Amino acid sequence: MSDAQFDFDLIVIGAGYGGFDAAKHASEKGLNVAIIESRDMGGTCVNRGCVPSKALLAASGKVRELADSKHLAGFGIHSAPVRFERQKIADHANKLVSNIRNNLTKALERAGVTILLGKGRLEGSQRVGLREVNGVDRVLTAKDVIVATGSDPFVPPGITIDGRTVFTSDEAVNLEWLPRWIAIIGSGYIGLEFADVYTALGCEVSMIEALDRVMPTFDPDIAKIAARNLIESRDIDARAGVLATKVVPGCPVNIELSDVKSRDVVERLEVDAVLVATGRVPSSKDLNLESLGVELNRGFIPIDGKMRVLINGSPVPNLWAVGDVTGKLMLAHTAAAQGTIAVDNILGDTRIIDYRSIPAATFTHPEISSVGMMELEARKFASEEGFELGTVRSYFKANSKALAELESDGLMKLLFRKDNGEVLGAHIYGLHAADLIQEVANAVSRRQSVIELSKEVHTHPTLSEVVEIAYKQAVNQLEKT
Ligand SMILES: Cc1cc2nc3c(=O)[nH]c(=O)nc-3n(C[C@H](O)[C@H](O)[C@H](O)COP(=O)(O)OP(=O)(O)OC[C@H]3O[C@@H](n4cnc5c(N)ncnc54)[C@H](O)[C@@H]3O)c2cc1C
Repeated sequence: MSDAQFDFDLIVIGAGYGGFDAAKHASEKGLNVAIIESRDMGGTCVNRGCVPSKALLAASGKVRELADSKHLAGFGIHSAPVRFERQKIADHANKLVSNIRNNLTKALERAGVTILLGKGRLEGSQRVGLREVNGVDRVLTAKDVIVATGSDPFVPPGITIDGRTVFTSDEAVNLEWLPRWIAIIGSGYIGLEFADVYTALGCEVSMIEALDRVMPTFDPDIAKIAARNLIESRDIDARAGVLATKVVPGCPVNIELSDVKSRDVVERLEVDAVLVATGRVPSSKDLNLESLGVELNRGFIPIDGKMRVLINGSPVPNLWAVGDVTGKLMLAHTAAAQGTIAVDNILGDTRIIDYRSIPAATFTHPEISSVGMMELEARKFASEEGFELGTVRSYFKANSKALAELESDGLMKLLFRKDNGEVLGAHIYGLHAADLIQEVANAVSRRQSVIELSKEVHTHPTLSEVVEIAYKQAVNQLEKT
């Protein structure tokens, strides 16, 4: 299968989840593959994202549970004051990172992928420049090239990062110390997850959100009930509609807050630390995409549904891009799915990604999850397509398992077409919401209707009955034909 005129059949630049899945899949399919990584094998997810943050959430979640004497008393349990060792929690996260990084590297080696350490760039069509760690620079050729260079934290102007008192999630995952008072700038999923960790471990949090409400990227009904529990009932003081226009590291850290509209300074805070969680920017700067004439869109690489890189809407031959650098649903499983799809297309199978069925989760306690359309988007779609949008709400307080766990604060909102019952989206807040969403994601992927879904039997008593009830309620709303 290999083409002798090239050094490799495929070169992948970036060994995050997107690059990893692409390289492994291609090699297992018989291609001669090299992967280039400039930092740590496994990329953001393994080293600075999903993996360490979920390890911290797991440990701090246990602390929260054991410290919640009121909740435990509901079961008749009375525990001693909970004690924890910050360093051991940090060690748990670090060990997990190094385990998963090693496993992933070995998996690539076993699959026969050539791992090249250094910085990759494009050098025109089917040519990749590699600046190795020792400074040696060489050019390699490949029949196809996949760019999977991911993203980095975005730091707004006026904010100085010192990595110790003012930091991003890159440093926060190390849990080097526990500030008494920390300001978290941004109330997206990363800000919320770290607020969950810090409050469980006894820190006081100020949450600063520039948009007009906290949790602006979540469904408004879900955000309302989630904010009540995850923000208002905790040691968190949240402000919306204010910009952190200046953050100066030190002891204390000085923050200047300005009104978003007038830009007038409205408040100054002195806190022990600041976590900047204001989104992520694509890592595309030094890739020399200009050598192929590719124009970036706010730094993101434009692609089509097959992962082909586009110039003015037309695909560039043999050039593909996957993962965060493409700016589509910036999640690890999106990157991995894109990587596999790119390779299948390289191999000649036509595969197009379905972003609508990709779920997203926030691993707070309790969790938040979603799949498919937001309500506003679904309403627009309904008016364009000429059908009525159906919405139902299913509550955890009516669920036996949630009640048994004394965790009945939760809501699922289901969006569907009233003409044929097709599921368009779902938003969940509640115990194990991240697991519950998968069932709906599968239904969205198959474009299934609540008519068939409502006939599927769910185990009793499980949280999945929250989803079953939503499907059954939806059927009752369908237009009678
Ligand atoms: C705190 C945090 C928590 C998260 N939690 C979750 C979660 O729970 N679930 C989830 O799905 N997602 C989560 N994410 C998002 C997830 O980490 C990313 O979506 C995912 O890592 C994207 O994968 P990627 O392969 O596109 O890029 P990355 O993982 O960013 O990998 C890109 C790799 O390319 C390398 N690279 C860049 N430029 C070059 C170059 N020129 N040459 C060679 N190598 C290069 C980088 O060093 C990096 O290793 C989280 C992110 C953060 C920050």
